[in-house]
Amino acid sequence: MKGLAKGLAITLRTMTRRSHTAHYPDALPALPPRSRGVIALFEENCTVCMLCARECPDWCIYIDSHKETVPPAAPGGRERSRNVLDRFAIDFALCMYCGICIEVCPFDALFWSPEFEYAETDIHELTHERDRLRDWMWTVPPPPAPDPAGEEPKELGAARKAVEKAEAARAREAAEPPAGEGGT
Ligand code: SF4
Ligand code: SF4
Repeated sequence: MKGLAKGLAITLRTMTRRSHTAHYPDALPALPPRSRGVIALFEENCTVCMLCARECPDWCIYIDSHKETVPPAAPGGRERSRNVLDRFAIDFALCMYCGICIEVCPFDALFWSPEFEYAETDIHELTHERDRLRDWMWTVPPPPAPDPAGEEPKELGAARKAVEKAEAARAREAAEPPAGEGGT
């Protein structure tokens, strides 16, 4: 009897509490912006170095490429060869969302997007090819603002110096009298 009363008390207490479940898909969950939903590819940054495919523990990144010869930048220079991406795909049926590929990419070509609504009835459709991975880039949130107390990022420092140099050159040009003037 005592146990029954205790059980009923717990049931009544729980019934009057606010529910933590969301009525998905009518109510979308409020996910943190950096949630691991899907991987986006910024293919302009990809150099086909293959690091992500080699480090992926699930072997679910498929990359194909070919080499192309690039003419020399200056006359008399040497021809160079570069990798051209033919295929970049991720099989999200195998992916375990560990994020290793994103961490190891040396060229910032892979990003997390919080999008998670890409369930399929056909498992083959869970392999997202490069165009679909590229489209996810539109859903990647902007990076957080740099810490004002932190060190200036190298890229920002270099860009600032280039702007200062260009402004100094412009100021020098403006201060110099045009050719043919200034002498008597
Ligand atoms: S998140 Fe992990 S498992 Fe998924 S593709 Fe990247 S490295 Fe592979
Ligand atoms: S690690 Fe980055 S640059 Fe290298 S192949 Fe993967 S996505 Fe491309």
